[in-house]
Amino acid sequence: MDLSMNERNPNAEMVARDLDCVWHPCTQMKDHEWLPMVPIRRGAGAWLEDFNGRRYLDAISSWWVNLFGHANPVIGNAVRRQLETLEHVMLAGFTHEPVVELSERLVAATPAGLDRVFYADNGSSAVEVALKMSFHYWLNQGEPGRQRFVALENSYHGETLGALAVGDVGLYKDTYRPLLMECLLAPSPDAYLREAGESPADFARRRAAELEALLERHAGEVCAVIVEPLVQCAGHMRMYDPAYLVELRAICDRHRVHLIADEIAVGFGRTGTMFACEQAGISPDFMCLSKGLTGGFLPLSAVLTSEDVYAAFYDDYTTLRAFLHSHSYTGNPLACAAALATLDLFAASDVLEKNRARAAALRAGVAALEDHPHVAEIRQAGMILAMEMVRDARTREPYPWQERRGLKVYQHALEKGVLLRPLAHVVYFMPPYVIDEEEIALLTRTAIEGIDVATREA
Ligand SMILES: *Cc1c(COP(=O)(O)O)cnc(C)c1O
Repeated sequence: MDLSMNERNPNAEMVARDLDCVWHPCTQMKDHEWLPMVPIRRGAGAWLEDFNGRRYLDAISSWWVNLFGHANPVIGNAVRRQLETLEHVMLAGFTHEPVVELSERLVAATPAGLDRVFYADNGSSAVEVALKMSFHYWLNQGEPGRQRFVALENSYHGETLGALAVGDVGLYKDTYRPLLMECLLAPSPDAYLREAGESPADFARRRAAELEALLERHAGEVCAVIVEPLVQCAGHMRMYDPAYLVELRAICDRHRVHLIADEIAVGFGRTGTMFACEQAGISPDFMCLSKGLTGGFLPLSAVLTSEDVYAAFYDDYTTLRAFLHSHSYTGNPLACAAALATLDLFAASDVLEKNRARAAALRAGVAALEDHPHVAEIRQAGMILAMEMVRDARTREPYPWQERRGLKVYQHALEKGVLLRPLAHVVYFMPPYVIDEEEIALLTRTAIEGIDVATREA
């Protein structure tokens, strides 16, 4: 008798229950007729484990949120301690120690001049807050004509309608275009687009000059320019030179326009410095943080801004200048406790220094792809490394998106026990800061194999 026929398959049972009632994010659910869903029972360090005991190395930090490994005990214990004293209190009219301490520490950790912290509970909401605050600031200053935002081509700032409106990833945006405010798009400084022989910095300055021309054409109409500093993450991990941010800061000052730095993905050490803006030595007028803010434990976001912006709202109630925006869970104490523990982990050891060795190992591990006929570029900013798969590396002719070759890399990697989730045809690493040498070797080996498999057929 074949006993295996009667053996339980806990993965399959969980997936069957899921497919009966859950609608997953960013997913064509019909794909799951043939693409297996992976049910995760637990995580530890850089690893996730399914209900059948199979393990997967989380090379993308579960959508870029996890910084110090899954079920990290330092963060877990901090949340547990907080859970026993205060789970939540509304932040209007009330306050609590975790939100006060977190605000003090975020002000200290971020670039100079960011002295006020407003909270929301996800990245998109933080972007909405920054957009509304900037518009409202100009209104309070007697400049109601400033109603437009400038964003970069290929940018991504989230999925809610305001955040989607200042993004430029067609896959997410095009369907909803009739619902969106129109933003002004400036050409991206993305170094992949530079001319042969042109340096990334020269290209960045050229693109900055084009942005300045756009602001000149729309003088007095613009509230703010919003950018993802150094890496357009959802826009296929395209990267640009810090010279762009240096120019952008000066241009925004010249034209009296706010600069919003969306560091939701790149903040907390991803690009090698604690915040990407540091590499240009600039302070934005607004900085949006989320994702890594709680080490990947709980949803929380923060918008930091200046005393100047804060002061424009500070007045007698009846002037109606206050920023009357809120979310039910604004400044949730559990999430703040997770964020404080995450900052403790940065303070406890020289994480950024240790990441330099990890980043070098990631790059060395994929060196074999340098001359690959279907890899147009290997690019890196600190702990983010991306490999661009194309039909022809010499001409950079892209693969048609319908071929979904990135999905083949995803499937191959899962078979090998690695979670990679390419963005279209761009394979990338954004691992948690606990990944060790052996895990990096597994990761880079698997990526190379996966790219070979995915690009084999013409
Ligand atoms: C993920 C992301 C967002 C949106 O954050 P959510 O928490 O997913 O709403 C905004 N901006 C950038 C740069 C992001 O990477």
